[in-house]
Amino acid sequence: MGVARVTSADVATLRCPYCARTIAPATDWVASGQREWGCCGFAADADGNRVAVLLLSPDATDGRALVMALWVEAAHARRGLGKRLVQAACASFRGRGVSTIVARAGVPATCSAPPKGFLRRCGFTYVPAERVWILDVNATVTDRPTAREFIHQLVASLRPLSPPEPAARAGRR
Ligand SMILES: [Zn+2]
Repeated sequence: MGVARVTSADVATLRCPYCARTIAPATDWVASGQREWGCCGFAADADGNRVAVLLLSPDATDGRALVMALWVEAAHARRGLGKRLVQAACASFRGRGVSTIVARAGVPATCSAPPKGFLRRCGFTYVPAERVWILDVNATVTDRPTAREFIHQLVASLRPLSPPEPAARAGRR
């Protein structure tokens, strides 16, 4: 089990297991994320497969990242993977100009609008005026030593920012 950044090139390989939604790498917010952050989200791998994905978009409001997609394969659900990805995003954003992660909850939940209960468990709070859920990336506390250790390893692995995709890889057909 590992967590990795999702680059704009990776986006094409991701398909929601519930609604089959795919996202084109050329989508505006994917390109914006890649440009501003060097990635557009995070994914958890198990046995070489992407089993959980969190995609984020730079919001028009400075310092915000908007949840665009979040799904966990059914076989890997209820193991905290979604929360881990949120924590990975917080760890990655901390000190990089993103202070808040914003999500719109869905009833029923979809892969673009996570369930309220999940957002609450991750530490999001509801802002009625905006009808969104927000999470302060600096206030996020990991609740278990194993999770803390995991995040420290992740942050270490993310530093320094990975270089842009090598031309050879990007150009491969
Ligand atoms: Zn979906």
